[in-house]
Amino acid sequence: MENALTGASSNSSAPEPPLILVVDDDRFMRDLLRQAMEKEGYRVAEAENGQQGLDAYIRLNPDIVLLDAIMPVMDGFTCCTQLQRLSGDGFSGDNRFTSNTPVLMITSLEDNQSVNRAFEVGAVDYVTKPIHWAVLRQRVKRLLEQAELYRQLQAANQELHRLAFLDGLTRVANRRCFDRAFEQEWRRLMREATSATEVTGEPQGLHHPASLSLILCDVDFFKLYNDSCGHLAGDRCLQQVAEAIRRAVERPSDLVARYGGEEFVVLLPNTDAVGAVQIAQKIRQEIGSLRLVHPSSTVSGFVTLSLGVTTTVPSRDSSPKELLSIADKALYQAKESGRDRLILKIFLHPY
Ligand code: GH3
Ligand code: MG
Ligand code: MG
Repeated sequence: MENALTGASSNSSAPEPPLILVVDDDRFMRDLLRQAMEKEGYRVAEAENGQQGLDAYIRLNPDIVLLDAIMPVMDGFTCCTQLQRLSGDGFSGDNRFTSNTPVLMITSLEDNQSVNRAFEVGAVDYVTKPIHWAVLRQRVKRLLEQAELYRQLQAANQELHRLAFLDGLTRVANRRCFDRAFEQEWRRLMREATSATEVTGEPQGLHHPASLSLILCDVDFFKLYNDSCGHLAGDRCLQQVAEAIRRAVERPSDLVARYGGEEFVVLLPNTDAVGAVQIAQKIRQEIGSLRLVHPSSTVSGFVTLSLGVTTTVPSRDSSPKELLSIADKALYQAKESGRDRLILKIFLHPY
């Protein structure tokens, strides 16, 4: 019992050894390759021809492929071309195969043509038969190390990319992310609006499906909050406000971002004024239910928001900047008229 447990825990913590896929029609050669690779501590899977090799690749996602050049059914060159396609395309959206698993070609002939062809179809290296085992071991080791480095680099890149678009304090999208998404949605909805008008031949009113809405949210008397509760409490407050706004938005295409300081923006594609006001009200409810005590606000005992809501149908005659400035005016009006409220301004359009 004790042994079994020890075995289980050591298994789960140790990474599995790399998996080598050996594709060769010669059974004797496969045995030799398996022995040599297992001796290095690797796991080995075998296939007898290119087609079987492809199937095994998809099923097992190996770390490296040792591929014989000359085989029946499907030769190594064709197989290698197909493997590149699989890893290059991300295999129909399945990103298990985007890591460019290295292929080491095994050619019987060292003629220029075979060597050139091996590289042309995407092999990263080759060895010749009869195999020089020490050379093979070193090449496999080096390719595995390179593949691992490449994987780490990709992961680090992905993380950097994620961080570059995230606000460090509140973990919602940052201004850069918002600017980019806003431009993209503007262009997309402009195309959508244009084609809808072409189909119906008529301008559409307030409930146009290609509407784009913005909500600018600003914490009321936040300077006073910091003054009364301290800057750290202010930071925690902003985190909770961001989380509450996030809870209020519904669709995956909606985006909550920190616009700057104690101001947040919500981008709502394909959302008309009615929908935007509903979300804005939900944001107010969520903030209200946080019941964050604000000792020096003159409008409430708790933290409140003022919201500027605006809606338009993107067109060439206007711009994202213009829509933002209208949201800003609505927000200003909400502040001026007493805070803790939302003001809607619809941006009239030619559709
Ligand atoms: P109003 O109701 O008119 O919006 O008043 P306000 O005090 O909220 O507005 P004002 O623009 O005068 O002050 C915003 C304050 O937000 C000042 C700034 O110190 C604070 N602030 C901005 N970013 C942060 C932050 O990351 N952390 C903390 N704790 N405070 C911040
Ligand atoms: Mg404020
Ligand atoms: Mg402000």
